[in-house]
Amino acid sequence: MTQAALPAHIERMSHSSLIDPYGRHVSYLRVSVTDRCDFRCVYCMSENMNFLPKADLLTLEELDRLCSAFIAQGVKKLRLTGGEPLVRKGIMTLVESLSRHLKTGALEELTFTTNGSQLAKYAKDLVKHGVKRINVSVDTLDAAKFKEITRWGELGKVLDGIKAAQDAGLQIKINAVALKGVNEFEIPDMVRWAHGQKMDFTLIETMPLGDIDGDRTDQYLPLSHVRARLMEQFTLEDISYKTGGPARYVRVAETGGRLGFITPLTHNFCESCNRVRLTCTGTLYMCLGQNDAADLRAPLRASEGDELVTRAILEAISRKPKGHDFIIDRSHNKPAVARHMSVTGG
Ligand code: SAM
Ligand code: SF4
Repeated sequence: MTQAALPAHIERMSHSSLIDPYGRHVSYLRVSVTDRCDFRCVYCMSENMNFLPKADLLTLEELDRLCSAFIAQGVKKLRLTGGEPLVRKGIMTLVESLSRHLKTGALEELTFTTNGSQLAKYAKDLVKHGVKRINVSVDTLDAAKFKEITRWGELGKVLDGIKAAQDAGLQIKINAVALKGVNEFEIPDMVRWAHGQKMDFTLIETMPLGDIDGDRTDQYLPLSHVRARLMEQFTLEDISYKTGGPARYVRVAETGGRLGFITPLTHNFCESCNRVRLTCTGTLYMCLGQNDAADLRAPLRASEGDELVTRAILEAISRKPKGHDFIIDRSHNKPAVARHMSVTGG
């Protein structure tokens, strides 16, 4: 089959790397390997979620092919997420296979965002396959509150998982979503706990993604308020540390640890966005907060070679939007996009 010539601006891109219309270099791919999860966090999902039929999922081999096509176009950092990535059956096969790109140096980092429930089981394998750092989501250190937030989770199991991961040599960053009236007053203790265990700690503002059972206006806690309150107890020193993600970091003088703020609502970080997100069905979202997407599954399945899918990737990056338009207040109390965070991956 003869291919139609690519438009000139996409053709130029195919000879360099993934540069979007705003000059941003896309070097970071997040992959939601499953939309399923063993928790039901109140800000993320409703309790009775409808998950995708298993038949719609890309196979692990297809996920590998897609990730590899991105790596061939210059993606340097890959984060597997979900849903809960460690509940995807056979996930270690994918990690092992992707680790070949770490060995060649084509990929600089392979990492995970996990709720920690399966870490005790998988920590050693992750290390064996070249994973060095992971993010673990922990919103509270109070076991009863943990159950309330996650509905189905057990704090003890997560803490055991974190210990196993540290023993295996993984560097850990704890992520916590700041929730009004829930973990709001516990945040300073969580900072001390994380830093005491040599873990970075990052706070996240709730984002209006997908319908949940509750009211997001009730959950939303602006990090500008949290930061002001933290400054009553801690000295926060601005630092230039970057992980390739959207967090802005400070050093807490009293603990010596790093504290990150992910503030999609109070401080939009889109101008430096280097990421795109792939779902477990092969849909590519060029922005977490916009609906525009590209189907990569059809071109992937249409041919055994990667030419078609690479063209689809280049075309998608050529229309990456400038940014999101998240707002949470009483007059904007609807999700900005209908899909849940578990679909696009955090
Ligand atoms: N299950 C894994 C976990 O919880 O770490 C990975 C997927 S989860 C969707 C990734 C991150 O997104 C978690 O840190 C979670 O707290 C966060 N998250 C989920 N829904 C969110 C929302 N509506 N706003 C902000 N963060 C959210
Ligand atoms: Fe599951 Fe993570 Fe969503 Fe919680 S935040 S329900 S652990 S995907």
